[in-house]
Amino acid sequence: MSGNNKPKFAMYWAAGCGGCEISVLNIHEKILEVDANFQLAFWPVAMDSKVKDVEALPDGDILLTLFNGSIRNSENEEMAHLLRRKSALLVAFGSCACEGGIPGLANFSSAKSVFDTAYHTISTDNPEGIHPQPEYVVKEGTLHIPQFYPVLKSLDQVVPVDYYMPGCPPEPTQIAAVVDLVVNVLQGKAELPPKGVTIGAGNSTVCDECKRKRNVKTIKKFVRIQDVERIDPELCLLEQGIPCNGPATRSGCGALCPSAGAQCIGCYGPAEGVIDFGARLITAFASVIDSTDPDEISIILDGIPDPAGQFYRFSLAKSLLRAGKPAWLNANGK
Ligand code: SF4
Ligand code: SF4
Repeated sequence: MSGNNKPKFAMYWAAGCGGCEISVLNIHEKILEVDANFQLAFWPVAMDSKVKDVEALPDGDILLTLFNGSIRNSENEEMAHLLRRKSALLVAFGSCACEGGIPGLANFSSAKSVFDTAYHTISTDNPEGIHPQPEYVVKEGTLHIPQFYPVLKSLDQVVPVDYYMPGCPPEPTQIAAVVDLVVNVLQGKAELPPKGVTIGAGNSTVCDECKRKRNVKTIKKFVRIQDVERIDPELCLLEQGIPCNGPATRSGCGALCPSAGAQCIGCYGPAEGVIDFGARLITAFASVIDSTDPDEISIILDGIPDPAGQFYRFSLAKSLLRAGKPAWLNANGK
């Protein structure tokens, strides 16, 4: 197929760290298949294309858009609507797009507090205490920058999404498998999965793909991994008191972290059928605590020093809670 006849591919980076963009390059020679089968229509990190080029395309003209990052400001939302309109298939790519991701943890804080941290803490040189304003008048006219949203959203909280591809970032093997699938669909050798499903991941939990042994399943204390003198290389980390998020997390990464002696932190999002990641994980942790005494249980739970980060590190924006009260208040903290 010549360049102009090939289906179009787009990738967009909203509110995220850029790791998802890099992860696509980590598929190594598989990237040649993307090039062979697609025409790059819009990928600001990789090519010089403009928003007006996308606006000029007919609706639905881009076959596949991988949208990474969450919706933190008005520009992110405008691009989500534009790319939704122009794309036949819109994929929420990575934890931030799927569930808000780590930036979503800011939903526990007010917009003012987020700005104060960014513009008034020790690492910031800002003697005049300037905060970015959505509008600023200069002699040439009015400058506009995107409006910051007090509550961060996942992609599907602003537009309908066709598929979800979790991970922080998605594993290269899983991205390669999805590239293979789409290429096979283009060649008439496979069919697309039903809309709305998760692709590039498994349907069970990280525990199901973890090789560590599970035995007693009861613990008397939680410990931070850096405080453990010797980690048993074979025993389940949770059974060693290390708070491992494997029981609530979707499989698909190959249990890489527990295999390497580090606890799962939940980047592949809630396992199939789990509505609220944190609630499922709290249930799993409660089931291994070896006590019925409320005071002792309270002491055991003190071993988890950051419950919000433990239970909602990637999924707060998509959880039943979605945000803490301060995030709903306006930027002045009122
Ligand atoms: Fe970065 Fe992870 Fe968000 Fe991707 S999902 S943009 S790697 S924080
Ligand atoms: Fe593996 Fe963690 Fe599950 Fe234990 S809790 S089996 S270490 S993933």
